[in-house]
Amino acid sequence: AAEEGFDIEDVEGAIEAAGHGPLPVLAVVGRPNVGKSTLVNRIIGRREAVVEDKPGVTRDRVTYEAEWAGRRFKVVDTGGWEQDVLGIDASVAAQAEYAIEAADAVVFVVDAKVGATDTDEAVVRLLRKAGKPVVLCANKVDGPSGEADAAYLWNLGLGEPHPVSALHGRGTGDMLDSVLEALPEAPEQSFGTAIGGPRRIALIGRPNVGKSSLLNKVAGEERVVVNELAGTTRDPVDEMIELGGVTWKFVDTAGIRKRVHLQQGADYYASLRTAAAVEKAEVAVVLIDASENISVQDQRIISMAVEAGRAMVIAYNKWDTLDEERRYYLEREIETELGQVAWAPRVNVSARTGRHMEKLVPAIETALAGWETRVPTGRLNAFLGELVSAHPHPIRGGKQPRILFGTQAGTKPPRFVLFASGFIEAGYRRFIERRLREEFGFEGTPIHISVRVRE
Ligand code: GDP
Ligand code: GDP
Repeated sequence: AAEEGFDIEDVEGAIEAAGHGPLPVLAVVGRPNVGKSTLVNRIIGRREAVVEDKPGVTRDRVTYEAEWAGRRFKVVDTGGWEQDVLGIDASVAAQAEYAIEAADAVVFVVDAKVGATDTDEAVVRLLRKAGKPVVLCANKVDGPSGEADAAYLWNLGLGEPHPVSALHGRGTGDMLDSVLEALPEAPEQSFGTAIGGPRRIALIGRPNVGKSSLLNKVAGEERVVVNELAGTTRDPVDEMIELGGVTWKFVDTAGIRKRVHLQQGADYYASLRTAAAVEKAEVAVVLIDASENISVQDQRIISMAVEAGRAMVIAYNKWDTLDEERRYYLEREIETELGQVAWAPRVNVSARTGRHMEKLVPAIETALAGWETRVPTGRLNAFLGELVSAHPHPIRGGKQPRILFGTQAGTKPPRFVLFASGFIEAGYRRFIERRLREEFGFEGTPIHISVRVRE
């Protein structure tokens, strides 16, 4: 590396940064209006004003990447969603439940000016049951005079209240230091420890695509309830299902079968569940209703799985309803709308008739294999060397940036670091990704490529 002009420490640092496993997850929970969204914005360093005074604001995204003191983690924002038909206590509890399930640690936000309410107490009980590390944020302490309000919150029995002003930034640094202490270095459900255990599948898709029908079809009588979250719901959360002689864990199946008709914030609620399920899974099976046009919502769900770096299979359901004309248009739609995820194995199924159910497991296995693929450095560099000499980067400003060498820094999903002599254009990066896929497979997995340029 040194003779190529890169400092060995830079190279090692870049590989380590690119090769991290799944990031630990922090959930921010609390009643409406305590300042959760404001705090999340502060944590992720988002400048634009996304906090709106209108209740029930729907947001697409619920997880964000954040960094503090050199450590990276994900933040689940539960602030996009307001009181619904369930009534405030139930809605806050349900929202907190999903977020806590997926989290490695929780920031519980209380409005210090208001003090602890009954709803806050209910969330405290949930937190106790979940047993996840909790950092108590006493928010809206905008100045020293509010500190006494914060001290009252010792009564919640969650340890030290951190006086914070999410709005002005006061106290957030100290609170984040405590968050880092609470978060594991690697998430609890680290993929490494899952070896030998059942693989985890998230069955996701917009409402009515047929998730619960599919689950019933594949589960048959084999269904075993493995986990119940006491208190808030009787529904099973994760289920073990035997398919093709192998036991799989379908995560967060309660979200699939729950028939709660929400009005305000229903989309947000669904997004939160999807995000939580994806976080817990290794592979996402995205169900799409083939009888309808592919929607923006379908694409968002796919993006969630891709952004989370999970293996992915796309299942087109309700195949029994398709006539020839619809099949023709579906193929065109898939090409134009879902071209970016052409790498995902595809199955055309019918949860109603059972059509092609037997193809689901091989597709999932293919995706997981792609997700875990590791290319030896020697092979990768032989490939890169040939590629770069056969298809050099276009000359820009009289110079020709070159990929000098590369390495795969991690798997699940595959992450590559390429070292270059100059800026590598997006088009050329995409070309490299395409060629990497042609050469090494990576079926069913997103791949990450970062490029380091020699100074
Ligand atoms: P959420 O519903 O819990 O996500 O709450 P929001 O983040 O939307 O905040 C609710 C309201 O409280 C907004 O008007 C915020 O500007 C305000 N707010 C949030 N944090 C603070 C704070 O630290 N101090 C003060 N004074 N107001 C705050
Ligand atoms: P979920 O909201 O994604 O869990 O969807 P459901 O499983 O509740 O299914 C929604 C509707 O689609 C129900 O009326 C199902 O009977 C129907 N459905 C599900 N799968 C199929 C299928 O493969 N073919 C047909 N024709 N209908 C289906």
